[in-house]
Amino acid sequence: MATLKGKVAVVTGSTSGIGLGIARSLAGAGADIMLNGFGDKAAIESLRKKLAAQFRVRIGYDGADLSKPAEVHSLIAHAVAELGGVDILVNNAGIQHVAPVDEFPDDRWDAVIAINLSADFHAIKAALPQMKKRGWGRIINIASAHGLVASINKVAYVTAKHGVVGMTKVVALETATTAITCNAICPGWVLTPLVQKQIDDLARREKLSETEAKRRLLAEKQPSGDFVTTEQIGALALYLCSDAAAQIRGAALSIDGGWTAQ
Ligand code: NAD
Repeated sequence: MATLKGKVAVVTGSTSGIGLGIARSLAGAGADIMLNGFGDKAAIESLRKKLAAQFRVRIGYDGADLSKPAEVHSLIAHAVAELGGVDILVNNAGIQHVAPVDEFPDDRWDAVIAINLSADFHAIKAALPQMKKRGWGRIINIASAHGLVASINKVAYVTAKHGVVGMTKVVALETATTAITCNAICPGWVLTPLVQKQIDDLARREKLSETEAKRRLLAEKQPSGDFVTTEQIGALALYLCSDAAAQIRGAALSIDGGWTAQ
């Protein structure tokens, strides 16, 4: 597997869920990490220290709100100033909102598009010159099964994630003759706070136990009947950083328990 000693990775939305799983996996291979995301200040500082001690790498933190382009640029600048550059960019931060299209609140549309789609563009634009300067790079965009197929009541999310898959292809083509690659990972259901909220809503709406709500959620989309784990996604991201993956370019890699095979 990849040795990432001396490499710097920015992982957006890494205070929780999939982003944290990826940060752990890259730190485990020796990369220095710039964490980003929201949460309790003290808890984030304790997480930062714990990861640094466990993996013996440098771990920074930047609380940039990725819905604001200027803060996306300052996140990348912070990584360069504190950790010396950006070799790996994982665009992971994301939010969800569920409502039918004719009732979908305008401000939720704007927020989902800003965080799940536009932030990826701004971060790539800011980080790519760093990778070109160093002659190597990995851009990994966390899309979704919803980057490949649709579901009802998720118009902003599905639009953003399909956009991320398209953006991934353009960036991969523009960097095709370099040692910089750009790919998307398309997970199915992963049990993170983002999905727990949808389970809680389903349980409340249909008067189900939590276990039954989880089973129903999986049964509807994910043939394996099991959640994808953050460790499995971390391992796939790490593989994409390896030399073995140097010719994987512009791919949208499914890790979805069979969701999009149907
Ligand atoms: P999560 O809610 O556990 O984590 C989201 C992270 O993004 C957190 O660290 C949060 O603080 C951060 N974040 C949210 N808004 C932000 C903002 N404005 N600025 C900076 N950081 C912000 O969610 P997750 O399930 O780990 O999702 C991570 C990514 O994976 C998202 O892009 C999501 O769409 C995608 N995804 C998740 C699943 C799933 O089943 N959980 C499936 C497919 C794709």
